[in-house]
Amino acid sequence: MSPWPIGVFASIDAGLGVHLDVVRELNVPTIQLHAPHAETRNAAAAAAFLKKCDEAGITVTAVFGGFEGESYADIATSARTVGLVPEETRAARLQEMKEISDFTKLLNCDTVALHIGFVPHDTSSASYQNLIATTRDLLDHVAGNGQQLNLETGQESADHLLHFIDDVGRKNLFINFDPANMILYGTGEPIAALKKVGHFVRSIHCKDAKWAAPDVRGKAWGQEVPLGDGDVGMETYLRTLQQLDYTGPLTIEREIPQDRERQKADIGHAVRLLTQLRAKILDS
Ligand code: MG
Repeated sequence: MSPWPIGVFASIDAGLGVHLDVVRELNVPTIQLHAPHAETRNAAAAAAFLKKCDEAGITVTAVFGGFEGESYADIATSARTVGLVPEETRAARLQEMKEISDFTKLLNCDTVALHIGFVPHDTSSASYQNLIATTRDLLDHVAGNGQQLNLETGQESADHLLHFIDDVGRKNLFINFDPANMILYGTGEPIAALKKVGHFVRSIHCKDAKWAAPDVRGKAWGQEVPLGDGDVGMETYLRTLQQLDYTGPLTIEREIPQDRERQKADIGHAVRLLTQLRAKILDS
């Protein structure tokens, strides 16, 4: 595959991503897939989906885990409900994430990805230590399937994420870098963060956002906007990825599943913008 194939975040069933017919219409060659619900995670569903992808010339580059009960309503709710961090659901979600890894293998894909949640800051706490053990357990299962796990960015600062990865100490733990999330969560200037964690970046999102007002940053969401309209700076973002020798997919994410028409239009716009920038940067 040539460098920087365009990608889009997609779903099999009613997830956050676009449906395969939209991917096909937009002529996008790669997808990251939002893991379907448990009842759809079986060999027959995987084979049927893979057949559709093959026919359309679409490659699945990562499968993103997600869980029942997660809510991104506001930052505080996200901290309480998202990923492997909440203790009440940790064991059950670990099991489910292993099943998602197995499903990912059925799709012939070597990458699972995840919002792990808001990693506790007190690294001596029992919750942090158990999260390390849980993540290792998951990574060993993922390794058994010949896969890596990429952590989505945003909920931690670059330094905190690096510290966590170092503490986990497994060779198949990497990063899915999302520049807009750094802005939305108020966890750091995205380009500076990317430079810090770059050696772990194995997949990325192309998403854009505007900062929340300084007095509420980190407490209230910034605003997700169409690609190119926000504070990331797409050309600088791509040039920084080039400096890091990142050649993987440019996966567009536009999280407005409540407005499918606008989602499709905005993704179409993003495809055109990234195609132009890619030509400008790689052909020069
Ligand atoms: Mg993302």
